[in-house]
Amino acid sequence: MKLHSKIVHIGVCTDEKTGAISTPIYQSATFRHPALGESTGFDYSRSQNPTRKVLEEGIASLEGGAVGLAFASGMAAVTAVLMLYKTGDHVVVVEDCYGGTYRVVNKVFNNFGIAVSFVDGSNIEEVTQAITPATKTIIVETPTNPLMKIVDIRAIVGLAQRRNLHSIVDNTFLTPYFQRPLELGADVVIHSGSKYLAGHNDLVCGFVVARTSELGERIRFIQNATGGVLGPNDSWLLIRSLKTLALRMEKHNSNALVIAKWLKNHPRVAKVYYPGLAEHHGKAVHDRQASGYGGMLSFVVDGAHLSKAILQRVKMIRFAESLGGVETLITLPAVQTHADVPADVRERLGISDCLLRLSVGIEDPEDLIKDLEQALGGQKI
Ligand SMILES: *Cc1c(COP(=O)(O)O)cnc(C)c1O
Repeated sequence: MKLHSKIVHIGVCTDEKTGAISTPIYQSATFRHPALGESTGFDYSRSQNPTRKVLEEGIASLEGGAVGLAFASGMAAVTAVLMLYKTGDHVVVVEDCYGGTYRVVNKVFNNFGIAVSFVDGSNIEEVTQAITPATKTIIVETPTNPLMKIVDIRAIVGLAQRRNLHSIVDNTFLTPYFQRPLELGADVVIHSGSKYLAGHNDLVCGFVVARTSELGERIRFIQNATGGVLGPNDSWLLIRSLKTLALRMEKHNSNALVIAKWLKNHPRVAKVYYPGLAEHHGKAVHDRQASGYGGMLSFVVDGAHLSKAILQRVKMIRFAESLGGVETLITLPAVQTHADVPADVRERLGISDCLLRLSVGIEDPEDLIKDLEQALGGQKI
């Protein structure tokens, strides 16, 4: 089956008894044992739930992995993966990663004696230099958040394999529709499913997909032991959301390309970061590892007054955190999503008060441009 069909058919007709087309919501905490020492495969819903299982197998098949696991949030997924490591270990993480990932490694896991180095993932020399004898893993995002830097997944995988480290890719921005890191050799993919996979700004969830069953089962053990699982209702809603993933991603992609080109020519916009633009740094690498550019872009305006004014002036576009939904959202990463990244690091990375991040939705692009035009032009400030 081609990917587009596979996406639509996740969870179709799993109920042998009734033939229901839609996966039932098994709202049950526990399951009757057929006899002592026997199980239907379901004992207690922290360990496994039939609705969640359909979703987990679906995600695993889209990413091309052996094991998929659904979590209560993207951060629960990130946390479960980091629990593979122990005191004395060292992890290497891209420096402009999701703010919450920065926070959990830097302010939670370091309390357990896990050291971290933040690196420019687009500079393989810098990643190599950061590796110490204690290093166990390299965690990357590509494109990065919010500067849309491109990390060469094959280069990271090659480096990790030579040094016997895990390579982990947060694939939230592109989804398996556009990019499948496990097929490039990565060991683990992480998702905030709250973003494009759910796609409607109405649900918080996360995923881990492991390439091998050996590593997948280790993370499943952690999931069951620590308990950050996704409930059956939210699992069902995600199965439902996934059916339109291909359509949504195509529209996010085409809208974002139109907006990026329009912004680039606006006199008050100094820079646009979008991997679909011909001049985007790393575009050639991106084109080798992904089949689309997604709906995320960032742009720099000529003054902090203007960026604040835009957040006030937008009408159809909403000033809100998060991303990946059908509605277009705008945010100021320096204040909102990346506040936990120290100011000097933000400055060095270019996450300034003039940088706005747009999660381009699936509205008519003319309406989006009209809204941006009045917000950027507006009255004098
Ligand atoms: C949102 C996000 C996360 C965290 O996911 P939650 O579902 O909000 O917990 C992790 N990584 C990336 C890239 C994200 O955008």
